[in-house]
Amino acid sequence: MNKRGLLVIVSGPSGAGKGTVVSELIKDSSYALSISMTTRTPRETEQDGIHYFFKTVEEFEKMIEENGFLEYAKFCDNYYGTPLSYVEQKLDEGKNVILEIEVQGALQVKERYKDAILIFLTPPNITQLRERLEKRATETPEKIAMRMKRAKEEIKLIDKYDYIVINDIVEKATKSINDIVRIEKMAAKRHISLINTFLEGDN
Ligand code: 5GP
Repeated sequence: MNKRGLLVIVSGPSGAGKGTVVSELIKDSSYALSISMTTRTPRETEQDGIHYFFKTVEEFEKMIEENGFLEYAKFCDNYYGTPLSYVEQKLDEGKNVILEIEVQGALQVKERYKDAILIFLTPPNITQLRERLEKRATETPEKIAMRMKRAKEEIKLIDKYDYIVINDIVEKATKSINDIVRIEKMAAKRHISLINTFLEGDN
């Protein structure tokens, strides 16, 4: 049986509710959530080492030079990146590792890990997207406008993803992602070693 975990990437526009869905998923101990590094300033409710590792631009760029990232990207003027070592360690432990990252980073990961599953989470419509961003009230109107523009750019790349999950009800979206992971685990291509044991076992 294939013991290595799956790499599950969850992308989607700001305000799609990725954070809420991901926090539901990780209640199940078969998942591990990668904590990203960013140069963005922390929001009031955010803690270093829990929501992100908050870094200076210099610290972040040093990590780039040292090849410490699985992927990184600039999003609305800030750097965001996935530290490589944690992801590899957890995959080896058999955990399904979740990356909650934007589109450019997701596509970089797919290049490097062909087996990664790319899931795009969207709100039911664009009006709800704006409403959610405004309700969250963590960004200035200029930043909200920037994120809305970026959302439209990201939506153009949906066809590069393996699955789309519409987040109208959190429980339903969480279940859909769990279903995707369960089905993907049964994919024949993930069980080559099992197939080989059948071929070699009866000689
Ligand atoms: P926020 O500032 O709202 O926390 O995140 C902005 C965007 O950056 C979101 O789409 C989020 O998924 C993405 N993001 C968070 N961490 C990473 C990361 O490590 N790499 C990449 N490429 N995007 C990330």
